[in-house]
Amino acid sequence: MRRRLAAGNWKMHGGTTSLTEIHALTRAHPAPAVDILICPPATLIEQAARTASGSAVAIGGQDCHPAPSGAHTGDISAPMLKEAGATHVILGHSERRTDHGEHDTDVRKKAHAAQTTGLVAIICLGESLAQREEGSTLGVISAQMTGSIPDNPTAGKLVIAYEPIWAIGTGLTPTPAQIGEVHGHMRAALTARFGAELAQGVPLLYGGSVKPGNAAEIFRVADVDGALVGGASLTAEDFSPIISALEAS
Ligand code: PEP
Repeated sequence: MRRRLAAGNWKMHGGTTSLTEIHALTRAHPAPAVDILICPPATLIEQAARTASGSAVAIGGQDCHPAPSGAHTGDISAPMLKEAGATHVILGHSERRTDHGEHDTDVRKKAHAAQTTGLVAIICLGESLAQREEGSTLGVISAQMTGSIPDNPTAGKLVIAYEPIWAIGTGLTPTPAQIGEVHGHMRAALTARFGAELAQGVPLLYGGSVKPGNAAEIFRVADVDGALVGGASLTAEDFSPIISALEAS
């Protein structure tokens, strides 16, 4: 059975006082039935990993450079994330694609670097509102999958997050049928490219305005194996019921 994952993306939020939220999660979910991940800003990874040490909460990064080291001011490499205590890294988030001009080819190289370092690569994909309205969602997702996922992904080290850009931070969410259509399409595309065994093991997350109030409905959708959560992952009070909803699904 593939693993289910509740992943929190703190983006550029939080300082050392936010570590209490991780501590609260470890106490609220001492033996969870699903995987739990928090991706704080890079400055907090080491302290977050120490806070979560010995618990079921894993810590991840929000980006990595394709190279292990070098003259790349401001960047952080996959081995550096690993040394700081990260086990996962989010790649190709739409905010990275927009703010930093990242393309699928960049994401593919980063994912390769992450996987060869032993990190789980969480590759983000998703259509814009204009693409959804013109009916090109599935084509966009196919192209992003082809471009962003390395040719020889490491089984067990790949997660795909479907994050429609228009749903991120807006309070809007696709209908369950729309989510199901994309997730079914992603599973079929993985199967066609990598075979059923690898494809069946890849957790497919939904991301975009997941909240305690809508999580259970989203987790009932076929081929949704968890969520990538932004705003509602910032406090244990909001994130904990989402984790519980995933456990109950
Ligand atoms: C995200 O940025 O990955 C995200 C899903 O954000 P939010 O949950 O706030 O929409």
